[in-house]
Amino acid sequence: MNQKLICKACFAHGKQDIRIDDRELTYTDDDVVIKIEAGGICGSDIHYYQEGHAGLSVIKHPMVIGHEFVGRVDKIPKNSKLKIGQKVAINPSRPCNQCQYCLEGKQNQCTNMRFMGSAQFNPHVHGGFSQYAIVSEQQCFPYDETVPAQVMAFAEPTTVAIHAVNIAGSLVGKKVLVIGAGPIGCLIIAAAKAAGAVEVIASDINERSQKISLAMGADHVVSPLNQEALATFTHNKGYFDVTFEACGAAAAIESTVHVTRANGTIVQVGMGASPVQYPVAQMLAKEISWKGSFRFINEFGIAVKWLEKGIIDPRPLISSEFPYQQIEQALITATDKNISSKVIVTFFD
Ligand code: ZN
Repeated sequence: MNQKLICKACFAHGKQDIRIDDRELTYTDDDVVIKIEAGGICGSDIHYYQEGHAGLSVIKHPMVIGHEFVGRVDKIPKNSKLKIGQKVAINPSRPCNQCQYCLEGKQNQCTNMRFMGSAQFNPHVHGGFSQYAIVSEQQCFPYDETVPAQVMAFAEPTTVAIHAVNIAGSLVGKKVLVIGAGPIGCLIIAAAKAAGAVEVIASDINERSQKISLAMGADHVVSPLNQEALATFTHNKGYFDVTFEACGAAAAIESTVHVTRANGTIVQVGMGASPVQYPVAQMLAKEISWKGSFRFINEFGIAVKWLEKGIIDPRPLISSEFPYQQIEQALITATDKNISSKVIVTFFD
């Protein structure tokens, strides 16, 4: 039987129009109701707020934003393994589990994906910046009571980072470059270290991001404007076994081919500029593998464990925290990359 619940949520109405409104949630006996505790603002949330669209996904009706969020179990189905009051990280991915890609175990390629907090389809799929959310039991990943919600709010971006590392293949003993030290780049740095890389170097123009990359585990950080460093990395057909491009700028994408060793691997994670000029001749002559990495498949549970056990500590990335009532200020702050990395939004009251 359908039941109803009314709560407050953060709705994007269009360009620079975000409102806290009442939200009516309908759920059945098979659904899990989550009382949200915290969420992280991602680039797509900023795009929805600042531009009214994220890439090709345009806000056509009010949509609850946020796809990085955690909470506590509030209601459970009969025979559920979850416990009321338990802390859970929520996987925002809702693949159809019926299409060709889902059946092959490639759910990130699902042709009917309903990703929470995304305007890709109409009606849009509401996100988690809401006092309550309705999810399925498969989306819930319990975590230890002692871990702060603000830390576990990194479960989704950490999953994206672990997927990128999985795309790269074994990093044991490898020399790794991560271009772009935003939240995803820094989580890739931490994940690459955890996965056995012997040397992880970060590259970013921004001094603030450079410092954070070191706090997140980079052995060394360089500016892409540092010609001397670049010369070292391009010498002898390149220095890095694996290069992760998590910036997206055209010049950064082009540079990956020059700094990656022959037979090395480039993993493209940054969305950014497209199309770009690409040095195809150098890429093929060096027999470089160029791979894309998009969202994630089954890495969510690994990310939750790594955050729970402190294998990845995302706290250097937290730049500020706002209660959801100040969502507009939170989004404006998150937009300014000179002061913000990850802005956390809380729903504790
Ligand atoms: Zn599917």
